[in-house]
Amino acid sequence: MYEGAVQDLIDELGRLPGVGPKSAQRIAFHLLASESADVGRLVAALQRVQAEVRFCVTCYNVAEAEQCRICRDPRRTDDVICVVEEPKDVVAIERTREFRGRYHVLGGAISPIEGVGPDDLRVKELMTRLMNGTVTELIIATDPNLEGEATAAYLARLVGPMGVAVSRLASGLPVGGDLEYADEVTLGRAFEGRRRIDA
Ligand SMILES: [Zn+2]
Repeated sequence: MYEGAVQDLIDELGRLPGVGPKSAQRIAFHLLASESADVGRLVAALQRVQAEVRFCVTCYNVAEAEQCRICRDPRRTDDVICVVEEPKDVVAIERTREFRGRYHVLGGAISPIEGVGPDDLRVKELMTRLMNGTVTELIIATDPNLEGEATAAYLARLVGPMGVAVSRLASGLPVGGDLEYADEVTLGRAFEGRRRIDA
C-alpha cells in the first residue's frame, strides 16, 4: 500500500502480538512524525534487549545475568516454587508481594489445538529442580483458562507422586482470562487462598 520503507515498518509492526493492521499503520506514522531522538531511544532499547537480555538458567525468567534477580536473591525461600506460563506472570505475582519463594517459567501452556505438548514446555527442567528434595510445595499459577487448567492437571499428576504438595490459585480470578490482567488484590487473595490439588 505504501512505498518501501514505510510498508516494511508497517509489516514488521503488524507481526507483533495484539497489533492489527490499523494499529501498525498508526504506530508507523507516529514514528515517522517523531523526533529522531525519540526514535533513537526506541531503536537502542530494542537493540539492548536483543544483546543483553536472556533467560535465567534456573527458572527461565528474563535475566540480565546467568541467573535472574529472583533466583539470585538470598532472602527468598527455596522450598516453594511458583510455576507460571510467561515471564510477565512473574511480574504480576511479584506485584502482589504475597510470594517469597522461587519461580519456574514454563514458556507457555499445554494446548492440543495449537499443538503444544509437555515436551514443548520447560517441564523436564522443572522435574530436575524437584529432584534434590528441597522443594516441598509447588504453586501452579498458570492462566485461569482451558490451557492453564490442563497444564495444572498435568503437572499435579506428574509431581504428586514425588511427595511435593501441589496447589492451584484459588478461584476469584477472571475465568478464561490472563493472569496479568488480574488486579493485585484479586491475585494476592487467590494466592493466599490457594488450594491443594491431590493427584
Ligand atoms: Zn531465575
